[in-house]
Amino acid sequence: MGRYIGPQCRLCRAEGRKLFLKGERCYTPKCAMTKNRPKPGKAQYARMRKPSNYAIQLREKQKLKRLYNMSEAQFRRFFHMAEKMPGRTGDNLIILLERRLDNIVYRMHFASSRKQARQIVDHGHVLVNGRKVNIPSYIVREGDRVEIREKSKKLLVFKESLKEYTRSGVMAWLEVDPDNLVGTVKMIPMRSDITDLADIKENLIVELYSK
Ligand code: SF4
Repeated sequence: MGRYIGPQCRLCRAEGRKLFLKGERCYTPKCAMTKNRPKPGKAQYARMRKPSNYAIQLREKQKLKRLYNMSEAQFRRFFHMAEKMPGRTGDNLIILLERRLDNIVYRMHFASSRKQARQIVDHGHVLVNGRKVNIPSYIVREGDRVEIREKSKKLLVFKESLKEYTRSGVMAWLEVDPDNLVGTVKMIPMRSDITDLADIKENLIVELYSK
């Protein structure tokens, strides 16, 4: 299936949660999720029977996939990587998604959305341990130093994104020097460290893909 190119806020309304797809706007009263608008197609849903287990599992997968701005093929590839790792597949999946370079750039507030973070990585603005890495799905390791390359630091986009750093700081497993646009992955997070995804039921995604 191709990439979704319709209105981003519609996806949040369909999933019933903020997916933070539009950067700065997501933190303002302009966010469609703060306006209490009904789900798209709600009248249709109302006529439908109780959703099947499959429908519930599918919704959960779509929610996580959209949060990380991934295509089905990319998401499934990460699921297969998670399956091969020791431990619980659901936990592994979320930790792997968190370790993507585009997500790290977003989490360090060098970008205001994961979509923008992907572009920043794609365009070669990011160094990992001093070397340019332009692969958004690159998996960072403990101790990795992630920074914006010197000649890109003056771009306005970083100054704008770092406003969110001032508001909320970074997750405990990351460290950021906002003045120099440098961050470090202090440790690989545990599932419980990803507190803003506490509502995601990854076991449903494992059940879906295990059929
Ligand atoms: Fe989702 Fe952001 Fe739109 Fe709010 S503003 S509905 S969080 S994309």
